Amino acid sequence: MNVDVLIIGCGMAGLVAARKTSEAKLSTLVIATGYGSTALSSGTIDLLGYFNGREVSKPMETLDKFMKQNPNHPYTVVGAGRILRAFREFREKYGSFITYEGGLEKNERLLTPLGLFKPTCLAQSSIMKGTRENLRDSKVLVAGFRNLSNHTPALIARSLRENWAVEADYIKLDRKEIQPIQLALLLEFHSDEIIKTLSKHSLGGYDYLALPPVLGIRRTAEIVSEFEDALGIRVFETMSFPPSIPGLRLQQLLEQPCAQNGVEIRLGWRAVKIKTSDQGCQTKAIENGDERIISSKAVILATGQVMRDEISVASEKNFQGTTNSILEYQVIDDRFRLVKNGESFENIFVAGSALSETNMTGLGVSLSTGYASAVEAIKFLREA
Ligand SMILES: Cc1cc2nc3c(=O)[nH]c(=O)nc-3n(C[C@H](O)[C@H](O)[C@H](O)COP(=O)(O)OP(=O)(O)OC[C@H]3O[C@@H](n4cnc5c(N)ncnc54)[C@H](O)[C@@H]3O)c2cc1C
Repeated sequence: MNVDVLIIGCGMAGLVAARKTSEAKLSTLVIATGYGSTALSSGTIDLLGYFNGREVSKPMETLDKFMKQNPNHPYTVVGAGRILRAFREFREKYGSFITYEGGLEKNERLLTPLGLFKPTCLAQSSIMKGTRENLRDSKVLVAGFRNLSNHTPALIARSLRENWAVEADYIKLDRKEIQPIQLALLLEFHSDEIIKTLSKHSLGGYDYLALPPVLGIRRTAEIVSEFEDALGIRVFETMSFPPSIPGLRLQQLLEQPCAQNGVEIRLGWRAVKIKTSDQGCQTKAIENGDERIISSKAVILATGQVMRDEISVASEKNFQGTTNSILEYQVIDDRFRLVKNGESFENIFVAGSALSETNMTGLGVSLSTGYASAVEAIKFLREA
């Protein structure tokens, strides 16, 4: 196998990088052991939710101060200009079956499954309706499903009443499904079943109906409209615990432009070793016990923080032998290249939460470093 760019990892960082390099007409292959934390996450994209122990209300305005206090944080290396461009491209290029709302100027506070409000700057439209601001003087009915264990409507309603002075009640629908994915698939194809059940409850007098985030996978906006038209009430989804349908929607959203640009995504491939030289990179991966060798001009490591499998890296130039963990490296220089003993690997770039064990990382970090690492890899290949 021979490509311009090999990307290891298919979360937010790897897929944003893959979209960017494939748009630059570089042949791109993505390999990954599986879905990472992006698919498990709430799917809401934080730039800066908290800083110095306090909630941030204006993330872009606070970013400058944050970068001054954290000179080694990935945001500081990316820089404000590229962060803005990465977020702008996210809004422009990923608008197909799920739309995101919000912006970098202001954090919205969204209802969590614990009945608290979490600051975030971009969220799926169906979740963005449940802001603290919208719910302030409203009466809310929180609906759940009897066997869905990661969503407790009684807890959410009680917290809304006791902590936030929002009038709230709850109901539980008697369904047998226990997994969010079962409900999401049911709603994707038979939303009328749940609408019919809900219409038997008295919804008059409520301004909002809060549901767990299971309103379909690719048809969510339509399903929300179907509920609203049939029930005559505004409907939103709360945020989620894993396993997360909004995280799955985000994962699929990120894959779409890659597929359109001809990027192959191979799951079940575990990279174990990269050998790099002036001629390029040779990556050894294991698939189903078989060894695969991939030649590429550059590699972008986007192996995440939570489910990272170790990869050893050997270079003719920087050092002989191998090392076991990316964390042994100083991680990156200002061009997102992997650094060892003060020297940069010319053709190995790093992105996403793989960049840091200790620093705060969220989807905003993976989005902006995925973007920036690809920009640097493209520049390197054009200069070569
Ligand atoms: C439960 C949960 C909730 C979260 N909620 C939020 C939130 O509300 N807002 C927010 O901004 N962030 C949130 N985050 C954090 C956010 O999800 C992560 O920071 C982000 O998804 C990381 O993206 P990534 O692309 O860097 O890594 P990941 O998505 O983890 O992707 C890593 C990829 O690398 C692959 N991989 C690893 N090692 C190898 C190897 N050796 N060979 C091949 N492939 C390999 C994995 O299979 C995977 O595909 C949450 C995270 C979790 C777990």
